[in-house]
Order: sequence, then C-alpha cells, then structure tokens
Amino acid sequence: MISTNLNKVQDQIFSKCSEIGRDSNDITLIAVSKTQSIETISDVYRIGQRHFGENKAQELRDKGKELNLDITWHFIGHLQKNKAKYAVEFAEYIHSVDSIQLLDEIDKQALKFGKVQKFMIEANTSGEESKYGIENFNKIVELAEYSMTLKNVEFSGLMTMAPFVDDETIIRNSFKVLKEHFDKLKKNGFDIKHLSMGMTNDYLIALEEGATMLRIGTALFGERNYN
Ligand SMILES: *Cc1c(COP(=O)(O)O)cnc(C)c1O
Repeated sequence: MISTNLNKVQDQIFSKCSEIGRDSNDITLIAVSKTQSIETISDVYRIGQRHFGENKAQELRDKGKELNLDITWHFIGHLQKNKAKYAVEFAEYIHSVDSIQLLDEIDKQALKFGKVQKFMIEANTSGEESKYGIENFNKIVELAEYSMTLKNVEFSGLMTMAPFVDDETIIRNSFKVLKEHFDKLKKNGFDIKHLSMGMTNDYLIALEEGATMLRIGTALFGERNYN
C-alpha cells in the first residue's frame, strides 16, 4: 500500500519536473511520519525512503533513538526552546526557526552535540495569524544576519506552509512570496539552498514555484490517526 503511494508520489514529482524543466534529483521528498509507528517507518525505509520529518521534538527523539538506521531526520514543527535539544540531537535540518531566542538555544545545543545545525527560517506567507513563522521580510533578514554571528548553525533556506484553502491562486501566491524572499536573500549574499514548501495537497504547485524540499504525509501514509 505505502509502496504504491510512494511510487505514485515519486512519479508525479518526476513528471512535473520533466514538464517544467527541473531536475528531480534536486528535490528531496520528506516522508512526514508524525503519528506513524516505528514499524511503518521501518517498512518505508526498507523500500528505499531515507528522509523523514517529524513535528514534535519528543516524538523525534523517541523514534530517532529507537530506529538505528541511516535516516535523515527533518524537524518541521513549531519548536519550543526547552525542547530544542531533542531536535538538535537527531535532525539534519530544523525547518522552523522563527526567533533569535530559539536560534541561540539551537546554537548552544549544537555546540554540545559537536555539530553544525542546518536550519531554515519559517516564514508566514499567508498572513494567517494562526500560522507560525515570520511575516516581515526585514525581520527574516535580521534573523539571517544574526545567524552569521553564531558558529554552530548554518542558515540553509526558508520554509512555509500555504494556507488551507481550495483557491489555487492563494496557495500559489504564498509559495511565490517565499521564493521572492529566497531570491532577495541570495541577492543580499546569503548562500542558501532550500525552499521547504509543499504538502500533500499542494506539492505540485510548490514544485512549479521552486520548492526543493517537499514535506508529504497523507499522500504516503493515508489519513493520520491521532489516537
Ligand atoms: C503534517 C505536516 C506536513 C504534511 O502534511 P500532509 O498534508 O499530511 O502531507 C507538512 N509540513 C508540516 C509542517 C506538517 O506539520
């Protein structure tokens, strides 16, 4: 079942990339495994998937400890300062940095773990108050500049979540805003690589707008069961 889903998603990514002239090797498919069991994750690992995403720090720690495999973990959820250590211990990328205080803590933990923590700045591109992330571009630049003063973190790109609406124009616009931020940062000299955007309902639009990392859960695992 999941292998069929995985093949289907990979095929769709491949076709979309061919259609728009992008190289599908530049795209990282992150299987969002929140709420999924160790067994399910192992199964998907066995059929070749290596990148997995979690949105709760303790859940990432528990799974990271138990699954002794060469999985590349991504932390994609809102991160509280006091739990940053769990994300730093296991995640190759933290996608959701949105304050100097959090980045300071990540830097401190990264030093302890003897690593350089790659991170994305989460931008709020939808104007929805319920969303995390930084809305103001100058504030994003400030945080990016601040990160350059820290030794144990590496600014790697931007992340956003499109609004949950049916209107494709609104979704696409949210991705366009992120891409504009990304291009402006690059013009200002930041050597960033990743645009983390696109989920089950909108990943093909995200690809068209320049996504390099897709965070996909439901299309691979089916509807989540939170019980
Ligand atoms: C759950 C989640 C996803 C995946 O959502 P689906 O719609 O199931 O693909 C992507 N990004 C974040 C931040 C999430 O929390």
